[in-house]
Amino acid sequence: MLVKGVAFYLASELPFEAKSLLEDFRLAVNNAVRAGLQARVTSRNALCRIAYKDFREQHPRMYAQHLVSAFEVAGGVLKNHRRRVRKGVTSRIPFVKRLMMKAENQAFKLDRKTGIIDLPIRAGYHVELRLVVSQYHRKYLDDMSLSLGSLTVLPGRVIVAFRKDAPKPYTPDSVISLDTNERSLDGVFVTDDAGMAVKAEFPDIATIQQRHHDRRKRLQKKKAHDRRTSKNLCRREGLREHRRVDYRLHQVANSVLKFAEERKSAIVLEDLKGFKSKRSRELNRRLSMWPRRKLHQIIEYKAQWKGIPVVKVDPRNSSRTCPICGRIKDFRMGTEFKCECGWRLDKHINASINLLQTAISKGMAGGLRFNPGAFQHDVMMILYEPAMAARSEPNGTSSIVGVS
Ligand SMILES: [Zn+2]
Repeated sequence: MLVKGVAFYLASELPFEAKSLLEDFRLAVNNAVRAGLQARVTSRNALCRIAYKDFREQHPRMYAQHLVSAFEVAGGVLKNHRRRVRKGVTSRIPFVKRLMMKAENQAFKLDRKTGIIDLPIRAGYHVELRLVVSQYHRKYLDDMSLSLGSLTVLPGRVIVAFRKDAPKPYTPDSVISLDTNERSLDGVFVTDDAGMAVKAEFPDIATIQQRHHDRRKRLQKKKAHDRRTSKNLCRREGLREHRRVDYRLHQVANSVLKFAEERKSAIVLEDLKGFKSKRSRELNRRLSMWPRRKLHQIIEYKAQWKGIPVVKVDPRNSSRTCPICGRIKDFRMGTEFKCECGWRLDKHINASINLLQTAISKGMAGGLRFNPGAFQHDVMMILYEPAMAARSEPNGTSSIVGVS
C-alpha cells in the first residue's frame, strides 16, 4: 500500500475548539511518551494497555479515537527515541513541541466534492474545516482509486493521507541510466537502436549546502558562549536549508520521471547504500551525501506511485571500467574517461553506461540490449536545469508545502 500526504491550507482560521483539541492532543502525546518511557514500551497497544484508563480520566471529554491516535503518535516518538539511543546519538527525553493532532480515517469525514472536513472534538460536538482546494488537490480528491488515510491537523494547514495499491510497473521500451553526482545526474537514454547522453543539473544544491554550512559554522563561533541560542539558530538554519534543497530535489525528480513516463523508460540508479558516511569526520562530504540519497528516495517513491520501473545496481567500479573492452582503470581520471582501446567519454556518462550494463547483465532492464558503439557522442538531452525552476521559485520566507 502506498501512502501520499497532501497538504491543504484552511480557508479560515482553525476554530477555537479545534485549537484546544490540538493542545489536548499534544499533552496526551507527551504524557503517553512519559508513560511509555517509564514502562519501557513503545507499541500503541502496549501504551493503550498501561495508560488508557488514566488518560480517560485526564481527558474525559476528548473523542476516544483521538486518544488512541495520540498513543500511536507517542509510539512513533518513542521508537525514534529508542533508535537514537541505540545508535549512540545522545537523545534527551523526547517531547513534542509542535501543536498537532492526528486522526485515523474512521475518526473524521472528508467530503471530497466540497473539501469540507468534519472533525469530531468530543462526543456530540464536531467542527467543520474548509480546505483550500486547487487543481493540484483536485487530482487527489477526484481520483476515487485513492482511499483516505489519516488526517494530520496543524495550526495553519492539514495533511490528508491518500492511499492506493502500488500499480504494476510497465514493461519498459527504453532505459534511462543515471550516475548520481554532487551537482547533476548524468547518464544515457537508450532505446533499441540508439543511445544518447542525458543530464539533469542542480548546481545550486551544493551551493546552498555550502552556504548554510558556512553560516552554521559562523553562528556556532559567534554564539559559543550561549549554547542554547546557537543550537536554536542552527536548527533554524538547517530547516531552511532542508526546505530549499528539498524543493529543488522534487523539481529534478519530477523532470526525470516525466521524461521516463513519456517514453516508457525504466530508470537505472546506483545503489548508494555502500557509501558509509564517516561520523563527524569529513563533514563536507557527509553534507553533500544526503541530497543524493534523498533524490533517489524521491525518484523511487514517485516512480512507484506512477508505475515506472526503477532498478538499483551496485556501482562498484562503475567509474573505472571501460564498457567496450572491460579494462578496469586503477587511477583517478580527469573529466574524461580514456581507454587504451580508443574509447573516450565524459567520465560520469561512462559510469552510467556501466550501471546500465550491470542492470542488463542481471536481467533487470527488460529485454533491452545496448551496444556502446551505437552511442551518439554529439547529442545531449537536458532533463532539468535550474533555469527551469527559476520562474516558479517561491521566496524563502513562504513555507513550501512538502509533498512527501
Ligand atoms: Zn577499453
